[in-house]
Amino acid sequence: MKQVSWPRRPGPGARLVLAAALAAWAGCDAALSEYDSIYSRGADKYVLCGHSIDDKNFVSLDEIERAMVRARIDGTTLHLYAHKPTRTVERSTIESVLAAAERQGVPLVTYAELERGERPGTLALSFDDHDLVGWTSLQPAFERTRSQVTFFVSAYLDLSAEERGQLRTLATLGHDIQFHSTWHQNAESYTAEHGVTAYVDNEILPALTAMRTDGFAPTVFAYPFGARTSTVDDAMIPHFQHLRAIYATCPQ
Ligand SMILES: [Zn+2]
Repeated sequence: MKQVSWPRRPGPGARLVLAAALAAWAGCDAALSEYDSIYSRGADKYVLCGHSIDDKNFVSLDEIERAMVRARIDGTTLHLYAHKPTRTVERSTIESVLAAAERQGVPLVTYAELERGERPGTLALSFDDHDLVGWTSLQPAFERTRSQVTFFVSAYLDLSAEERGQLRTLATLGHDIQFHSTWHQNAESYTAEHGVTAYVDNEILPALTAMRTDGFAPTVFAYPFGARTSTVDDAMIPHFQHLRAIYATCPQ
């Protein structure tokens, strides 16, 4: 009798292969190892810049690993970020990145650690927004590889008591809790329409004050969408030690 074999549902590995194949097909695998602006020496610049490794950006694991090798050889810190595990980035992608960092001898570093001094040959991995369930689900992988990351939090005022508790737990585990605005507005368009003072009053102070009241001490601000201007950068000086932009919006 003729056997019919049904295609199996692709697992996470297959999805990674698919993402890499799509990236190759589209010719858009980001050349992380060639992007000078996503490497720093400690927190040597006021505006530090990261590159997204969310799945939609089609950054291959090979390229991420090449970028780690560059950081190790140059004695710099590589800055990468993502958002929501399982929704914007496969959990297996993050697990593979952590495994690659371990394999390459490139330890993870938080932004708070970078502010305390240079950490040559490291990876600053961060997560933006407020996916507490997704972030917490990565803890076993962080633990396995003894990795600590930075969480840039937006919409803190909307977090439930349970979510604030999860954030506190992540902080207790050594992760770094930093700031990502109050309502996730685009700083460039918001200030063009309402001015910088309104931006500080509505987008910075409310959630920053609430976080500080709850015992968090953010010193780094990641711009939503990476959208920034030098005027807003200057207006952030009284509130933060450092800013995080993205590759596409990094100051020249
Ligand atoms: Zn965001």
